[in-house]
Amino acid sequence: MPQKSDISNSDILFPYSNIRDGQKEFLNDVNTAVNEGKILLAHAPTGIGKTAASLGGMLNYGLKNNKVIFFLTPKHTQHEIVIETLKKIKEKYALKFIAVDIIGKQWMCMYPDTEDISSNEFNEFCKAKKEHEECEFYKNAHPKKNESNIADGIKNKLKNSIMHSEEVKELCSRHNICPYEIIIECAKDANVIICDYFHIFSKTVRDTFLTRIGKELNDSIIIIDESHNLPERLMSLLSHSISEFSIDRAGKEAENVGKIYLQEAVLNLKKILVLFGKELDNNNEIFMEKDKFVAAVEKHIRKIDGPANCLKITGKFLGSWNMSEPGFARILKKEIRKDATGRYRDYFSLYCNCLDPSISTSEIFNACHSAVLMSGTLIPLEMYKDILGIPDKRAMLKEYKSPFPKENKLVMVVEGLTTKYEMRSEEMFKKYAENINEILKHVDGNIAIFFPSYKILNKISFFMKEIQDKSDKNFTFAKPILLEQQDMTKEDRMELYKKLI
Ligand code: SF4
Repeated sequence: MPQKSDISNSDILFPYSNIRDGQKEFLNDVNTAVNEGKILLAHAPTGIGKTAASLGGMLNYGLKNNKVIFFLTPKHTQHEIVIETLKKIKEKYALKFIAVDIIGKQWMCMYPDTEDISSNEFNEFCKAKKEHEECEFYKNAHPKKNESNIADGIKNKLKNSIMHSEEVKELCSRHNICPYEIIIECAKDANVIICDYFHIFSKTVRDTFLTRIGKELNDSIIIIDESHNLPERLMSLLSHSISEFSIDRAGKEAENVGKIYLQEAVLNLKKILVLFGKELDNNNEIFMEKDKFVAAVEKHIRKIDGPANCLKITGKFLGSWNMSEPGFARILKKEIRKDATGRYRDYFSLYCNCLDPSISTSEIFNACHSAVLMSGTLIPLEMYKDILGIPDKRAMLKEYKSPFPKENKLVMVVEGLTTKYEMRSEEMFKKYAENINEILKHVDGNIAIFFPSYKILNKISFFMKEIQDKSDKNFTFAKPILLEQQDMTKEDRMELYKKLI
């Protein structure tokens, strides 16, 4: 059970001494939402301090009423600010509560290079290791009574101090213990769980996850950071496709694992796809009737599934195609590509695209105790409420003002600069570099520059350096150029950002 807090006099646990404009209003709304069991959709501009306000407004209620708070973020890098905020609250109010930081098992695994394989492959790998009792890290996380128990020591440490998942991984690696297992064990007693959207919004992940940690949706408070991302992330999670290429790969996998019946099934599936492809005539894509494809598949194929990646994807596709819910667009497409002999021919694909994210969200927003969806770009709020299936009677729609004075923002457009594909050239990149260098000369303090791709970043930064090296010796560019590189690790990126700040 989550630890009960001993606070009773204050409803709000704000970690800082000063509160920003707009933040107070947001904090009070969060507190109202959690007390009244509402779902707050908050369009709150950057800089308002959303993390502190959302946790500050909800944590006390959660602790007093034994509700677990799930703080969901779409990126691992955003976990750190949540952890720091919780640490500050804990220290300022001398509170006892447990918070755990969870990232996907694949990123916590102690085996090398597991980050490079697909999630299907990884899940099969981990499952097999555990079932065959071959994972020493797993065994060390669950020692038998007569075995030495370092795992309990780590769990106690994690329950008493708030640790980043990377710190837990580092600590566990010293003792050959699976960090994911340790975190999951601690999550059973946690008051706050920092995790990804998928832990709650993917039905398969949620069912296993909540069962393992012994939590229920109706006793949950959910904070969703950067929630403008939620509809798209969920639609992509629920969408599936197959193509002649993926079917060929599935056939190869079936052959490699010696499953002849699967290989035949996959071959039949390709024949069906190509046959339907002929119906496209001069069109590049057409809607495909669900039942027509189901009938053809049922006639020639029993079931496709298997231990390997493409076989699983193909099996999943067939399952998703057959789902009865409306809200999916079933599309047959063709594209012209070169075949192995170098000749161009039509290649066919089938898509089962989800157009309605409420298929996976309305259940959550009906069941949870309360939720806050927050983002700097959550307008129109009404639209997000509708597409996420949030019931009218529970919804609170709010827009907050930026805490920064308007005059602090200077928007300038430089004519003649564009990254439009057909306008890209060495000359254009040089022009960018000249303009950026001019800005560097006139702005005090550090500057962050954002590029649409690493390729463009590398081109422009090359010219920036070249111009700086050749520049007037009387003028020095006091600021070193710090470059983010595509192959940087998470730690390298954090180091880089710290240098900038
Ligand atoms: S139990 Fe842990 S260490 Fe073992 S394979 Fe699974 S994730 Fe990796």
